[in-house]
Amino acid sequence: METTSVKVDLQKFMENIIIIGTGCAGFTAGIYAARANLNPLILEGKQPGGQLTTTSEVENFPGFPEGIDGFMLMDNLRKQALKFGARIKHALVNSVIFGEGKKTLKLGDESIEAKAVIIATGAAPRLLGIPGEQEMYGGKGVTTCATCDGAFYRNMDVVVVGGGDSACEEALFLTRFCSSVTILHRRDQFRASKIMAQRVLEHPKIKVLWETKPEKIIPGEDGKAKSVMISGTKDGKTSEVFCKGIFVAIGHIPNTECFKDELDLDENGYLLPLKGSNVLTKIPGVYIAGDCADHVYRQAITASGMGCQAAIEAERWLAE
Ligand code: NAP
Repeated sequence: METTSVKVDLQKFMENIIIIGTGCAGFTAGIYAARANLNPLILEGKQPGGQLTTTSEVENFPGFPEGIDGFMLMDNLRKQALKFGARIKHALVNSVIFGEGKKTLKLGDESIEAKAVIIATGAAPRLLGIPGEQEMYGGKGVTTCATCDGAFYRNMDVVVVGGGDSACEEALFLTRFCSSVTILHRRDQFRASKIMAQRVLEHPKIKVLWETKPEKIIPGEDGKAKSVMISGTKDGKTSEVFCKGIFVAIGHIPNTECFKDELDLDENGYLLPLKGSNVLTKIPGVYIAGDCADHVYRQAITASGMGCQAAIEAERWLAE
């Protein structure tokens, strides 16, 4: 991806608008804010381009009848934002102080100020919290990204945990490399869309173990995953599934920790909008967009839509 070096005079300058996050919501907000001559600064965190950069094919983003690679889609959004003058800076926001006029973002030792802020920090993969998961996370068998790690499991047996679109997508992607893919799902039907579920159920390399959940990941002599102990969610029966890779695809946790003292969050940590809106917050000039605030739709296109709404709201508020 193209990167830019942005020099911001932190002491003397107050930004018009800072957008936190470079997923679909953040970049779309950036495109709109830049085209409105607001000279936006977009802060890019740990995962440049957001979750879509770890997706293989995006088939449902309007305008791409043949589908588009997730990384390419995000790179296109980035280029579009840069083309209209948005600036991108790598920075992690540690904490915020939101006043009606001045919004202060603390980035490590430095801080940066803006009149308006759009929060588009997305969400991070949820983990199982079972023994062995942390110990073998990363290079030792446990992962949350088939696109990133699938090729390491060529000709091996793997397990995917979950029953949503992500789990189905991961499982289908893994059939390109792996000898077999076993899905562990805690219920007796998928949460995934019908089309994805059907593709999974019809795939000769994929087996589904319904009403099961992983209890423990067991290492082999090399310290890497050897098998998963599972139990039946209804009958409690335990068994061991031998596999080299465990792909966890059980949803996400919103990246909202640093806003919890300033904004309203729901019980799962999603940022709450003002009643009657989906991007306004209780603080004028602070807006929310995308997966950090949306636990219902969670689509690339809805995140982009919220980013657009947030930027238009910010533009109007700044004009006032
Ligand atoms: P999701 O829809 O929330 O599904 C999470 C799955 O994990 C559910 O099946 C859930 O089981 C299971 N689960 C949750 N916690 C668990 C635990 N502790 N142990 C075992 N299983 C657990 O999440 P997602 O699949 O990441 O999808 C998120 C959103 O993105 C959805 O709106 C989806 O449609 C969208 N998406 C779209 C595409 C696409 O269109 N190409 C691809 C990926 C995602 P239950 O079913 O029992 O709750």
